[in-house]
Amino acid sequence: MSEAQQGKASACPSEFDVIVVGAGFAGLYLIHSLRQKGLSVRAFEAGSDVGGTWFWNRYPGARCDIESVIYSYSFSDELQDEWRWSERYATQAEILAYIQHVADRFELRRDIQFNTRVSAATFDEKDERWTVETEQGQRVKARFVIMATGSLTVPKPVDIPGLEDFKGTWYHSTNWPAEGVDFTGKRVGLVGTASTGVQMVPLIAQQAEHLTVFQRTANFVLPAGNRPLSEEEQRHYRATYPQIREKTRYSSGGSHYQFNDQSALVATAEEREAIYEENYRINGLAFLGSFNDLLINEEANATAAEFIRGKIRSVVKDPVVAEDLCPNDHPLGSKRLCIGSSYLETFNRSNVSLVNLKRTPLERITEGGMRTCDQELPFDVLVFATGFDAITGALSRIQVTGREGLKLKDKWKDGPRCYLGLATAGFPNMFIMTGPQSPGALANVVVAIEQHADWIMDCIGYLEQQNRTLIEASPDAENAWVEKVAALSQITLHRKGASWYSGANVPGKPRVFMPFVGGFGNYRRMCDAVAANGYEGFVLSGCAAGATVEQEELA
Ligand code: NAP
Repeated sequence: MSEAQQGKASACPSEFDVIVVGAGFAGLYLIHSLRQKGLSVRAFEAGSDVGGTWFWNRYPGARCDIESVIYSYSFSDELQDEWRWSERYATQAEILAYIQHVADRFELRRDIQFNTRVSAATFDEKDERWTVETEQGQRVKARFVIMATGSLTVPKPVDIPGLEDFKGTWYHSTNWPAEGVDFTGKRVGLVGTASTGVQMVPLIAQQAEHLTVFQRTANFVLPAGNRPLSEEEQRHYRATYPQIREKTRYSSGGSHYQFNDQSALVATAEEREAIYEENYRINGLAFLGSFNDLLINEEANATAAEFIRGKIRSVVKDPVVAEDLCPNDHPLGSKRLCIGSSYLETFNRSNVSLVNLKRTPLERITEGGMRTCDQELPFDVLVFATGFDAITGALSRIQVTGREGLKLKDKWKDGPRCYLGLATAGFPNMFIMTGPQSPGALANVVVAIEQHADWIMDCIGYLEQQNRTLIEASPDAENAWVEKVAALSQITLHRKGASWYSGANVPGKPRVFMPFVGGFGNYRRMCDAVAANGYEGFVLSGCAAGATVEQEELA
């Protein structure tokens, strides 16, 4: 193990051009891009290896709900050509192996210090440097800091009283033991029935003596339609990658699907049924593209929601359980659709039961299990698939201080504010990957990451070309962008789903709908226009050593 992998301070010089926080998909591509620009970079990573969210989330059934051929980097033709995805939707293990391969292939680990959590980042106006501090007390300086801390990295703390009393073992999906967990012969209680819970349930049910699933909100769950990728499909993808990638870059969600540009209300009932049936069977998340108004028109949405409820009733044999599994309190797609394999079928097993917490609320965790308002159930193991303090969680755990002592947590106390989702006023030379007010959370995140990183590289290049040393979002541009993101979110039915997109899942978190919903391709064009107009909405200042520039601000 290298010194960097041990997190040793001695392995690290004290100054770099850029410090990157995080070594997941975003951090790795940033390291590669910064090196290509000839900039020195050091990344700090809390885990013992690369991978980010795919390093930690090793729970049974973990896999991506975006197709592997597009949930991958596009920056290197060689990488694209040599890697073989074995299944349509890759498992966590395969994605992690891919990320590790990328780290090896481009020798990225030598610029990463592992087992190192960043605790603070402070901007010093006099020397125009960021000082980044780690939990081990190491201090390193850089001209730029880029937060590649991920949207889904910090678990939402378990907010059910009594966990400390529980005498059995418990696990949270976001920090699963690398060696796995054997549920054989165990009575298991599982809380959480969204994307993560839906993936775990079928696999835990196969092992456990009995699995009890605690559901608070029923979700729209669609079959993944997963299958191995044949040699022929692999060849086809490799041959058509340029077109596929181009499509993902300008699509609404970073995918290569062709969405139906017709209203659900114009189609006949038979046409709707046929389109829903086809998309339900094979298209996973792209079911939402069945018609062009599912996310903006409640009546159109209701047709799709009823189709899914019909599927639930046809698969789940016990009519009471089927009704409990039917989502009724939010429009389809207003919370992220859940993609599973045999999730609904699992409720037909004799060793699986469902507790509907809307009918019988959870009271507390006890020494021996869980108590709802009407019963106490004994468990050997508890599993929490209760989600994340998403988008801002990781950043809020770092003490970030900008100009004039401005603390990020104070600036964002009523909700996060970013210009283009990439930068926040008062924090010069700090960029955020897939941050609040970017489309990252709603898009194929790898496509978003490549766009963000490329844009940031060009931005740093422009700054240098202008002989300037500092760039930051102007408050006016930031306000206008935040307002635009908020207004757009009111157009879609997302406003009707209480989810991690708006912080609604974490008690006490400010409620702000964080992702840009205007479409990824549109977002890319807006970012390109900002760059083409001399980084409109950003303020450039400072003067590179040996250069003379006029000191007026280029706003
Ligand atoms: P999540 O969407 O926030 O869902 C958390 C689940 O836990 C919900 O069912 C929630 O119920 C429940 N819950 C939370 N606190 C609870 C409590 N105190 N009592 C009872 N139930 C409680 O989290 P997630 O499933 O981990 O997914 C988060 C995101 O990660 C997804 O939306 C997706 O973007 C990503 N993800 C993707 C994949 C994939 O690619 N396949 C897999 C996993 C995750 P309520 O809804 O009632 O709050």
